[in-house]
Amino acid sequence: MQDKKITDLLESFQAIGRTKNQGYTRTVYDQAWCQAQKQCVNIIKELGLVPWVDEIGNLYATADLTWPKEPVILVGSHLDTVVDGGLYDGLYGALAAVLSVSQIVKSGQRMGRPLVAVIFSEEEGSRFDATFTGSQYLLGRHLKDFEHLVDARGQTFGQIRQAAVAALSPFVQTASRLKIAQYLELHIEQGPILEKAGTDIGIVTTIVGQERFLIQLAGQANHAGTTPMDCRDDALRRAVGLLADLYRELAQIPDLRYTIGKVQLEPNVANVIPGLVTFALDLRHQDQSVLSEAVGVVAELVDRYRAKLERTTAVMPTQMDAGLQEEIAGACQSVGLTHQFLPSGAGHDAQVMGEQVPTAMIFVPSVGGVSHVPEETTTPADLENGQRVLTAVLAKLVG
Ligand SMILES: [Zn+2]
Repeated sequence: MQDKKITDLLESFQAIGRTKNQGYTRTVYDQAWCQAQKQCVNIIKELGLVPWVDEIGNLYATADLTWPKEPVILVGSHLDTVVDGGLYDGLYGALAAVLSVSQIVKSGQRMGRPLVAVIFSEEEGSRFDATFTGSQYLLGRHLKDFEHLVDARGQTFGQIRQAAVAALSPFVQTASRLKIAQYLELHIEQGPILEKAGTDIGIVTTIVGQERFLIQLAGQANHAGTTPMDCRDDALRRAVGLLADLYRELAQIPDLRYTIGKVQLEPNVANVIPGLVTFALDLRHQDQSVLSEAVGVVAELVDRYRAKLERTTAVMPTQMDAGLQEEIAGACQSVGLTHQFLPSGAGHDAQVMGEQVPTAMIFVPSVGGVSHVPEETTTPADLENGQRVLTAVLAKLVG
């Protein structure tokens, strides 16, 4: 596999988790995820590296059979997708990381620090109401913080995690969690800025903070025909008021991104008055004080409607390391590519890592600026450019 390109590696995933809409669904620990993990293990071995798996299902690739004890230079991204997502979000950076590590190892360059690629088990939060579980675990969160979570089909995180990781048992290591000196992540931009500007490479300055909530509003389920209108406690009717107020009040906060992307009714039957409405609210901003103000507005409204508020994600805005940003700019120059600095409006594992270790992110253009949909794509030239820059940066960092 000496001359494999990033595009070849990505192509080998085209049949895994493919949906009828020509997108990809790989939620953590599902069948497609397990298949994709196995394919990653094959690639790691074929590229001459050693695969390892930890107990949450993060997959690592190292140069030799010794699990590194000293701090490593870590490079990677995530394996999971949103439902009906594209081929490139997460997987591109994960495979590029493995390929870049293998190229540096093969080059025979002396390595002052161990270089490790990581493919995080989960980042998107598309199966359980928790995000970044892979990178959070690596940084010291306990499994028991996630094990009780239940997916839409009633399966617990704990049960399915054990089954999924057991399938990779020959590679499981329980020696210790990695110590990390620096973390790098290559990712598609998922927005229109680089393409519009005609720039080859984006260097991320900061990643927006993110708060995600589950809001529950309870009423009384009852018969649609026999319950007079003035005797009803219709959960949906009240929820509509709360939703309208949320949209109106949150719109007053400049540059806030707010999304209600998931709404569930119970019992969700045509002839029964809704007894319970649950919806998810996602808030993002690059300034933590603005984000906190938005959370205050939400809490007050939820209280006014006697609803219940549960915070499922809270990630602070994260500055990327200035020194690493300069290294990436230098690498772009050395391989003859243009670059620009930009913030990331999407959350990434780099955000979690950046809270504890010097971290940086490299973006490549997204065609049409679209992502989290089957149409998500990046040109082969841009895919290769990003991976070349990644290799150049890593080669400098380990030297
Ligand atoms: Zn991603």
